[in-house]
Amino acid sequence: MMSKPLLTCEELLSGAVGVISSDTPRLDAELLLNHVSGLSRTSFRAFPEREVDAPIVAEFERLVAQRIEGMPIAYLLGHQEFWSLPFKVSSSTLIPRPDTECLVEQALALSLPDNAKVLDMGTGTGAIALALASEQPNWLITACDLQEDAIALAQANARELRLPVNVFQSSWFTGLPTDRFDLIVSNPPYIASGDDHLGEGGVRFEPASALVAGADGLDDIRQIVAEAPAWLNNNGWLLLEHGFDQASVVQELFSKHGFSNIESRKDYGGNDRMTLGQWPEQGADDVE
Ligand code: GLN
Repeated sequence: MMSKPLLTCEELLSGAVGVISSDTPRLDAELLLNHVSGLSRTSFRAFPEREVDAPIVAEFERLVAQRIEGMPIAYLLGHQEFWSLPFKVSSSTLIPRPDTECLVEQALALSLPDNAKVLDMGTGTGAIALALASEQPNWLITACDLQEDAIALAQANARELRLPVNVFQSSWFTGLPTDRFDLIVSNPPYIASGDDHLGEGGVRFEPASALVAGADGLDDIRQIVAEAPAWLNNNGWLLLEHGFDQASVVQELFSKHGFSNIESRKDYGGNDRMTLGQWPEQGADDVE
């Protein structure tokens, strides 16, 4: 009996490029073939005629079919780079976004004590907390998330990156041991439940719990801003990522809850993407 001829790398790649409708079909196909075969992307150019074993072909085709459905490449590969660090990702957490690196930059630009105590709320993969830990080894960094899968993932990423971050399960502040921080940072869910964006592209595959926050997208931000003062040291900072059109309402929330030095900052796309404010020194007069 004649066995089926083996497919070459180039045949597999050009077949996939013809059916993947993303902006980067060749790159996607090469990343997926690299992932299932262990062959390097440069080897696809150097040895396009190299034959690929049938089980690898089957696995490649399974992933290509998912990519055609719109599954983000990061979920198919199981990892995503953030702040030049490799993070494991899974469908129980948001895929770290390049724009969230602006939040990390902003946090690093603050003037904080050498041994600053920092809290990253809703950490997901641990991206923000671990990026900060990679830059500031003396900071004492705590991260929390409500989802058990996210906690396991953040802990696995911390182990793999050999960075010291304490991860707690907590619904915002409710499950945290009492403490005061010099910086509280978060990329919370901030999309309105009826937003059309939720039905498009890669976000369809990301967990709603990490994206959606009530009718106006501000439910979680309102809670964090209201409760943060009890968890901040004097002169400590609250720094939140939010939607491109939420800066003025988030600034008002900061102001209503007593923050000073309130400012918003832009992401790489020029959108107001984050707001920060400082919890002022509480003088004797302020103590009730
Ligand atoms: N910026 C993300 C998006 O628009 C949302 C992230 C979030 O809700 N925290 O897809």
